[in-house]
Amino acid sequence: LPEFFDVIVIGAGAAGLMCAATAGQRGRRVLVLDHANKVGKKILMSGGGRCNFTNLKVEPTHYLSANHHFCISALRRYTSADFIELVDRYALEYHEKTLGQLFCNHRAKDVLNILLAECELGGVQIETRCVVHQVSALSEQSADCQSADCSSARYRLHTARGVVYCESLVVATGGLSIPTLGSSGFGYDLARQFGLAVTDLQAALVPFVLNGEWLARVQALAGVALPVEVSCQKQSFREALLFTHKGLSGPAILQISSYWKPGEKVTIDLLPGESLVEQLQAWQKEGRKAELKTLLAQRLPKRLVQVWLDLPGLQTLASKPLAELSKVDIQILADAFHAWPCWPAGTEGYKTAEVTLGGVSTDAISSKTFEAKTQPGLFFIGEVLDVTGWLGGYNFQWAWASGWCAGQYV
Ligand code: FAD
Repeated sequence: LPEFFDVIVIGAGAAGLMCAATAGQRGRRVLVLDHANKVGKKILMSGGGRCNFTNLKVEPTHYLSANHHFCISALRRYTSADFIELVDRYALEYHEKTLGQLFCNHRAKDVLNILLAECELGGVQIETRCVVHQVSALSEQSADCQSADCSSARYRLHTARGVVYCESLVVATGGLSIPTLGSSGFGYDLARQFGLAVTDLQAALVPFVLNGEWLARVQALAGVALPVEVSCQKQSFREALLFTHKGLSGPAILQISSYWKPGEKVTIDLLPGESLVEQLQAWQKEGRKAELKTLLAQRLPKRLVQVWLDLPGLQTLASKPLAELSKVDIQILADAFHAWPCWPAGTEGYKTAEVTLGGVSTDAISSKTFEAKTQPGLFFIGEVLDVTGWLGGYNFQWAWASGWCAGQYV
């Protein structure tokens, strides 16, 4: 490796590649280092192999962060329309799946190839399987780099390929989710090394696990999916829920997992937008003779109805003829389906989580340049920061936006 680069980016993921391409095309000499054997592994795995690369409607409210205002500037300066303009230039074929979510028609690799082509245009050098052992900030006296253009060097990196120097160092190492895809806590450690705070970290966009009698119940329902409205902490999502062998998954659950804290309750409406009270009363008026479970199976998956009507407190109601259900009975039944109080035992953790909630505190970072306020030349972008998007292409949009913005300043 040459000794000196204007910019070194640690992490060849979504944010790192975007930043490198942007800086390279500004004429900066850029090196990207990644310890993994391949670049962009999460991009390749994303969206079930089709990469939900952005969303048509991106608002700051789609992001969680201790400072809700931090993400606004970058999301305004590099929008989903900007990323769409980029992929259109490469004639990427894509479609809107649902709720503004844009997916590749073919393979996620097409998005990665666009980023790599952009890096090539910027003359970016990329090194995989390159572990960074140590990073140090240089004071003028300690700059021992021999190269002529080293006068601007501010950081020294001891890597598996030798010692390299740079003026700007960009940390784009992502979060902790899915360790087999190359994730590490390196970015957080680096932040701490330079005195920057890191917030509490938690696996997010992740399935819930249940225990006790509820585990047996969900296991009986494994594979059943239905639209629900799930709520926690004044936040709710109306999307699909999937029962699994361990607990609950599906987009509704992944979304709410980002708002859930251990020990809290999640409330699930299994018949969102409907009124079971009105429905049961209507069936009574019509003089329906069929059993309750048969009627409910017109509205809900049959297996779910069976498990629910077997719950303590509902068994006796379930065996009554419909005409004999009192107002109170009807309310009890309606509550059981419209407001299921569910206490997850936990989540499946980083093994399956799509993202990490929390990260390098945004208090320490400029929302314009992404440079650490107290550490000139050190930048943090993408998921390593305390900015976490909803499911639906928002996390990649954050990676593109933060990477592009930092790329203007490094
Ligand atoms: P990453 O893309 O994770 O890149 C970090 C890079 O840093 C990696 O290449 C890693 O190898 C490297 N690295 C880590 N530690 C070191 C180290 N010590 N030294 C050198 N290199 C290091 N988001 C969406 O918006 N849409 C989706 O469809 C979507 N699907 C997903 C599916 C899965 C299975 C997962 C896990 C996530 C998904 N996400 C999706 C989230 C999205 O992938 C991330 O938010 C996004 O990749 C973050 O970009 P990043 O560049 O910050 O980090």
